[in-house]
Amino acid sequence: MPRPDVLIVGAGVIGCSLAVRLREEKLSVTVVDRGGPGKEASWAAAGMLAPTSEHVQVKAEAALAEASAALYPAWIRHLEDATGLSVGYRAEGTLLVAFNSEEATGLGSLPGEAVSAEEAQRLEPTLSPRLVAARFLAGDRQVDNRRLLAALVEAARAASVELRSQTPVAEWRVESGRALGVRTAAGENLEAGAVVNALGCWAGCLPPLGSRLTPTRPVRGQMLALRAAPNFLRHVVRSPRAYIVPRSEGRLLLGSTMDDAGYDKSVTPSGLRCILVGAVEIAPHLAALPFEEAWAGLRPDTPDHLPILGATDIENYYAATGHFRNGILLAPITAELLADVILGRGPSLPLEPFSSLRFARP
Ligand SMILES: Cc1cc2nc3c(=O)[nH]c(=O)nc-3n(C[C@H](O)[C@H](O)[C@H](O)COP(=O)(O)OP(=O)(O)OC[C@H]3O[C@@H](n4cnc5c(N)ncnc54)[C@H](O)[C@@H]3O)c2cc1C
Repeated sequence: MPRPDVLIVGAGVIGCSLAVRLREEKLSVTVVDRGGPGKEASWAAAGMLAPTSEHVQVKAEAALAEASAALYPAWIRHLEDATGLSVGYRAEGTLLVAFNSEEATGLGSLPGEAVSAEEAQRLEPTLSPRLVAARFLAGDRQVDNRRLLAALVEAARAASVELRSQTPVAEWRVESGRALGVRTAAGENLEAGAVVNALGCWAGCLPPLGSRLTPTRPVRGQMLALRAAPNFLRHVVRSPRAYIVPRSEGRLLLGSTMDDAGYDKSVTPSGLRCILVGAVEIAPHLAALPFEEAWAGLRPDTPDHLPILGATDIENYYAATGHFRNGILLAPITAELLADVILGRGPSLPLEPFSSLRFARP
């Protein structure tokens, strides 16, 4: 097999976005995944692009989130033009809703526009008459993440990225502090000029590097979908207990839990109950809608909840993982920054807060 310039391990939104970006820089790229591309956390997500309502507190992460949100419109336009596929980007904005005075006070401290309960109901007539206040965030948007992944895979294929599905990687191949490539579970050695760990919550699982540089852990999120009339809701609506994301074709996504369940992707009655109680509080008529689907996915969390990005202390080995609750939002900026680092250019944002070495320090 020809030796590519870059081998990306993990074909989620992070691996696929980086592959497309690196091809634009004329590098040859192979992406390997143990399953089909984009079928794990990137498939399970709700697709909210929510730098504000996700309460990103750490300054460096907020800068990353804002930069990525700013890249989104041009990034998806380019992707849609290249593939002819729509990714369901919607810019109506997000309504945060409060059901008591304490929650209303919390909303007051956020950016965005204060909206009275009456105005909120004029905007969205299916909202509960029990809500006491709301806040409108014009900059928090959404994309259909499953369609986004389909477009990224199509763009990668069209740009001659070699995408190898059903290829589990068994270990990193490292010699004298330098990454050479990987060995697959089938015993094949894949070599490359540079190797990127884009394994999401599995980033710390492979020997011999293990979790020293990439200590990610899975945080399960359960979700469900209902079928509604196309304009049942137009905005993403979030309360402290649940969120509702309306897709264009009338599908409503309801989420989500934050479960510590290891690598178990089961959907549980208590998880679904929690989501449904929170969602029905927001929009009571939901209770009568037809149920479509329920699923769970594993968010890649890290000890400080920040992503792990950039070069490592292993030559030619890079990390692009740990995006936790915001990997769909952070995909374009991650691709941009990693491409800069791999090509030896100065990245447009400081990567020090996201360095893998913060975990490897004594
Ligand atoms: C319920 C839920 C809701 C979410 N909502 C949002 C949201 O609204 N907005 C947002 O921005 N983010 C959201 N997220 C977070 C987002 O989904 C993740 O941060 C993002 O998808 C991570 O992408 P990734 O490419 O790093 O990981 P993944 O998509 O998990 O990809 C990792 C890949 O590695 C592959 N892999 C694993 N082990 C091996 C191996 N040994 N060999 C080869 N391949 C391997 C897997 O098959 C997988 O394809 C949500 C997540 C969940 C679970």
